Amino acid sequence: MIYNKILVRYGDLTLKGRNKKIFIHKVVGLVKEKLQGLKCTLDYTHDRMYITINDEDTDEILKRLSYVSGISSYSLVVRVDTTDDLETIKNAAVELINEQIKTDVKFKVDSKRCDKSFPMTSIELSQKVASHVLKHCNNLHVDVHNPDVCLRIELRTKDTYLYLSEIPGMGGFPVGIAGKGMLMLSGGIDSPVAGYLAMKQGLEIECVHFESTPLTSIESAQKVIDLVKKMAVYAPNSRIKVHFVPFKELHMELLDKVHESYNITIMRRMMYRIAEREAIMNNCLALCSGESIGQVASQTLESMATINEVVKLPMIRPLAIFDKLDIIDIAKKIGTYDISIRPFIDCCTIFTPKNPTTKPSIKRAETLEKEFDYESLIEEAISNAEVVWINQNTIDEEIEDYL
Ligand code: ATP
Ligand code: MG
Repeated sequence: MIYNKILVRYGDLTLKGRNKKIFIHKVVGLVKEKLQGLKCTLDYTHDRMYITINDEDTDEILKRLSYVSGISSYSLVVRVDTTDDLETIKNAAVELINEQIKTDVKFKVDSKRCDKSFPMTSIELSQKVASHVLKHCNNLHVDVHNPDVCLRIELRTKDTYLYLSEIPGMGGFPVGIAGKGMLMLSGGIDSPVAGYLAMKQGLEIECVHFESTPLTSIESAQKVIDLVKKMAVYAPNSRIKVHFVPFKELHMELLDKVHESYNITIMRRMMYRIAEREAIMNNCLALCSGESIGQVASQTLESMATINEVVKLPMIRPLAIFDKLDIIDIAKKIGTYDISIRPFIDCCTIFTPKNPTTKPSIKRAETLEKEFDYESLIEEAISNAEVVWINQNTIDEEIEDYL
């Protein structure tokens, strides 16, 4: 293949000054870490990265780049020396088109000179290269208004880059730049998507999962592990820390003591309290959930207010205003959907009350909570929590003890 480099463009360039430097440092670090073990090498400037392919499997590099947040796009490029007589550039253009374009296409050349001392305007450069290409490639017709293929030429002082396409990157901010959040991860469709979007926006995540075995099956814990494996590819060092919190005792107690219509409200207040304590103990600056307005009784604005009231950390709800179908699209894209729809129940779906209130009041919730000693049950749940690090390749034997 003629391509010898990959040009990587940074994400959000509205950032200025010091913030921009921190951003670049972080995203370069993430890319380096992702490419570990491959033969390719990396250079970077204030406005982009260049990966030299060095005989490495290009598809593997592209796949790994697709997991890095903070990248806006990347292109396979041919890098040649910048020369005044244009011979090298023209020949590279012909070679690139002959290799990559197999059918009849309408094409144009679009040039950019980053070094204005080059003795030719961008338009002249494009015209010269285009006429050379037309002479030496059979399957082309020029169409500057509506081309199928645009050969882009970027001319810098020493290096010239030629490429045909831009692959969209993950976008957003480099994961970790915004600090860390504690994601409440169920086995459902929404929370892994919320975790992905939080990472895409620069938040490193840890996960807390409330499990009620033996009320729920062991497969529901396995589901969480499989979901985290999929999410881990986007995380720093491709791994995520998960806190499995035993919830059965607390759950049984509140089913017994709390009026049915408030079961879910109180259960979720308990989850929020535990999640916040785990968050603080693990230096997280926010909580994160897959809640979406109106989805179920516990996700009306009244419910959210009554549940949210027990915590002080900000609750990030990336999906708050998402349509379920859009959430499913993302879940399919990141590979969590098929795992999420495995039919195992978790502690939210077990003993679902018939008539949960959709407009719970804080006062009533507080009164009902006085009926049982939830504080000691919370402490017990936290002290019995199990912590597991999961990466994309974690084999289940390594977490067998837990399962
Ligand atoms: P999901 O929302 O992930 O599809 P779900 O629909 O089963 O799962 P909901 O009942 O909608 O879950 O709960 C809303 C949110 O509460 C979840 O997105 C998740 O953030 C959190 N949550 C629910 N159950 C659990 C659990 N067992 N452990 C941790 N967090 C949970
Ligand atoms: Mg949900």
